[in-house]
Amino acid sequence: MSQEFRTGIGYDLHRLAEGRRLILGGVEIPYSKGFEAHSDGDILSHAVTDALLGAAGLGDIGELFPPTDPQWKDADSAVFLRQARELIESYGYQIGNIDAVVIIEQPKILPHRDKIRARMAKALGISADRIGLKAKTAEGVGPIGRGEAAAAHAVAVIWRAAERPVM
Ligand code: MG
Repeated sequence: MSQEFRTGIGYDLHRLAEGRRLILGGVEIPYSKGFEAHSDGDILSHAVTDALLGAAGLGDIGELFPPTDPQWKDADSAVFLRQARELIESYGYQIGNIDAVVIIEQPKILPHRDKIRARMAKALGISADRIGLKAKTAEGVGPIGRGEAAAAHAVAVIWRAAERPVM
């Protein structure tokens, strides 16, 4: 029995606005601004969800959870992670690892990193050591540098047992 490995990439960006909650990977981070979005705007969870769906060739977050659907208004994005996991598992895949970068000017994410990793790991049914998370600033450049938005990139590796060698 050999194994079939696949990779996926995900990206998301949302505007930051006063009076909204700042949620990354399901963890609320104290700050004066948060994400403007139909859901909770959790760019990290959205990028990881897209990476998982992309790895399995199963479309994207916008198709699975349309922003026009009222049930996703202010939705906890951990639901998206869980549903993406269940969907790829239904095709026989398991998550190998996730790696992600959040680009945000403020606040500092490092003090919250391990809590975020633990929270996402729980939603994905994997151990936290399978999730990498880095945070970068935009060095004051552009809309992210001015604190008007934040973005996240993620990659995922998934695998399943294959009857025959696939590569
Ligand atoms: Mg989004």
